[in-house]
Amino acid sequence: MTFSAPPMPSEGVVSWNINTACNYRCSYCTQRFMDDRGRWSRDTPRFLRSFAKLPGRWEVKISGGEPFVHPTLDEITAGLAELGHRISIVTNFSASEQKLLGFVTAARGRVGVFSCSLHLEYVSDIAAFVDKARWFRDALSVARDPSLPAPSLNVTTVATQSALPRLAELATGFADKGVVFKVQPEKLDGGLVTYTPQEEAQLVQLGGHNRTGQIAHRFTGQPCWSGRSYFIVDDRGIAYRCYPARRHKMERLGDFLSDSFALYDGPVPCPYPLCYCTVPIERGLMSRPTSPQNNE
Ligand code: SF4
Ligand code: SF4
Repeated sequence: MTFSAPPMPSEGVVSWNINTACNYRCSYCTQRFMDDRGRWSRDTPRFLRSFAKLPGRWEVKISGGEPFVHPTLDEITAGLAELGHRISIVTNFSASEQKLLGFVTAARGRVGVFSCSLHLEYVSDIAAFVDKARWFRDALSVARDPSLPAPSLNVTTVATQSALPRLAELATGFADKGVVFKVQPEKLDGGLVTYTPQEEAQLVQLGGHNRTGQIAHRFTGQPCWSGRSYFIVDDRGIAYRCYPARRHKMERLGDFLSDSFALYDGPVPCPYPLCYCTVPIERGLMSRPTSPQNNE
């Protein structure tokens, strides 16, 4: 059954992987097999010129690698704010307080979602992590531009086999401190690792993938605004419709840094068997059927 597309979102979203460099080496990192873990987008002015050409306001979701090891993160952030876009970020939250405050200053109140990835292989003092998250959430709130949606901060962690026994306690601990906590299924070869029915039930109990209510999402054949109101771009400027598109080597949108880049005109049916990035889902870029076959 095909559903009609939802209304076009008023703001676009782009996931920008600004580097492959990272100060961590998590065992489950989806980039661990990359040939080059030292790449970073070098021509900030050129990228900003391309972001200036996008129609309307966009939420630019910066990730990596680890964005806070990028040498011009503040310049990038300030430039995007100057263009009238909003800035979201995914970070392992290991940056110093000074660096974090530099980001807040550069963003000039235009932060969207600040997502802190809790990597349990590297973080042993959970209480300190929570305190830092609460402190930074307040810093974002104080600096916000009141004409824009309020910034939000959340903590995510990957449901690896070693993390699974700790998730319930972690969720309770974050909830007690008023910090939003989300679990993410572990990814493997463009799909998700196989969980037992009990483990799946546990993850659904904790809200599913990033609190979307489910672990796996499938929209094959359904119209989706990705390609028009969402796309991904890497540190070299290579753009695709979404992460599954890049994985399948389909629906390349061209070189973001040249005139070859082009967005779609409207919603287009999804050709992929699994939609495993929740950014387009959380922004409502496709209808979310609730039939059992889509509730897997
Ligand atoms: S912090 Fe993120 S990018 Fe860095 S190694 Fe861990 S999962 Fe990979
Ligand atoms: S995989 Fe998800 S984001 Fe990509 S086209 Fe399909 S529904 Fe849209």
